[in-house]
Parts: sequence; structure tokens; C-alpha cells
Amino acid sequence: MRKPIVAGNWKMNGSRESVSELVSEIISVGTLPCDVFICPPSVFFDLVGSQIADSPMDMGAQNIDWRESGAYTGEISAAMVKQSGCRYALVGHSERRTLFHETDVEVAKKFKAALDVGMTPVLCLGETLQQRQSGDTEEVVSSQLKTVMQTLSVAEFGQGIVAYEPIWAIGTGETATPALASEVHGVIRGLLQDQAPVLGDEMRILYGGSVNASNAAGLFAEADIDGALVGGASLISEDFVAICRATGTN
Ligand code: PEP
Repeated sequence: MRKPIVAGNWKMNGSRESVSELVSEIISVGTLPCDVFICPPSVFFDLVGSQIADSPMDMGAQNIDWRESGAYTGEISAAMVKQSGCRYALVGHSERRTLFHETDVEVAKKFKAALDVGMTPVLCLGETLQQRQSGDTEEVVSSQLKTVMQTLSVAEFGQGIVAYEPIWAIGTGETATPALASEVHGVIRGLLQDQAPVLGDEMRILYGGSVNASNAAGLFAEADIDGALVGGASLISEDFVAICRATGTN
């Protein structure tokens, strides 16, 4: 049985005041029926970390560098974010791939760097609208997955989480239908199964792309969708909490 998980990606949003308020509102509801973590901008890790210390909610990094240390101005290592209280790290978010030109090979290194310091990497995969319209979704997602999976042992890769995030659905208000998302989740689970049955059975696969309080339950009703990676709606506490609660309705 895979425990659902919902993650909030706050991207480059918020101030000390707004972040603090948002965290207080979310933790004030108490226990939720899923694992939950939020990814604030890294400058707020200390603030958020101290607020969530006695709550069941965890924190994640939106990005990490795979190198341990050195002359890499502006970068933050996996060990640094772990030491600042992060339990999870997103790797290969489409905004990193598109805007900052991250390659699959770099994403694989980030996945391993997170594992090496004892964090759970969340590998983000997804196709562009053009790739979908050309019928290339399966090929794109398979290649993104395999590039990372094949650099690691089954035991290593199995410590991570996968997030399917079609790029055309991120921040656009256009969500994949449950059936469409489920089809790709099925492909991903099949590839995991081929690699090792334990990966197919146990790996959590999240959906991301304009998930909101209204469409979450429909997505979570699909057997292969184990939760969500939420952007915009995670900045509104009632919506984020409603999405978390929707994991418990199936
Ligand atoms: C995301 O940034 O990972 C995301 C899914 O954003 P949104 O929910 O706003 O589409």
C-alpha cells in the first residue's frame, strides 16, 4: 500500500511575513491523511523549519546542486539544504530544465546527491505541448526516467519519488484529465516494474500540473496516482489543505 503524498512548490514567491502566515495556517489544521511537505524559497528554510518542527509536515528544496562544495556562486549543495531542515529535494522540475537548461544527466547527478546525504529526491518528468501533439509523450517521459534510473541500483532509485508533470499543464490552469494523467502514470509504473517489480509496486508517482481543490479528488481516484506536486494552489492554505484531504477520500 503506497501512502499518498502531497507537496507544495512555492517557487520564487513570498516574504517572511506571508510565508510564516501560510505555514501557520497549514499546520493549524493538524494531521492530514497523507505525507505533506512544502518547498519554500531556500532563504526561508530556517524560518519554516522552526515553525514546522513540532508538526507532521516536512520541508523540501526546490533545487540542489550535485557538487559538494566549491566555487559555484549562487548554488546550494544537498548537504546544505539537508542541514537546513529539508527532508526532500525536487530534481528536474520543468522550470529548471527549461529556464536553466538542466539536462537529464545533471538531473541524475542531483538525484544521487540528494540520496547521498539521506534526502528523498523527487524526480520531475513531463512533456511539452508540442511533444504531446507529436505523439512523443511516452518516449520523452521514458527517456527522462531511464536516464536517471539506469545510473542507480534498484535499492537507491527506490528511495526516491517520481512526479509526472506535463509542462503544458504547469501554471496554465489546464489540468490533465484523470484518464490522461493515469495513462502516463501507467506507462511510468510499467517502466519501473520492468526495472524491478519492487519499484513498480512501491514507488510513489505524483501528478503535477494545475492541481486544485476541485480537481484533486478525481485525480487521486486513479490507482496509479499517489498524490500531487502542487504549485499555485499550494500558496493558498485552504486550497492546499483541501488537496491534502482529498487523498483521504478514496
Ligand atoms: C509545479 O510547479 O510543479 C506545478 C505543478 O505548478 P502548478 O500547480 O501551478 O501548475
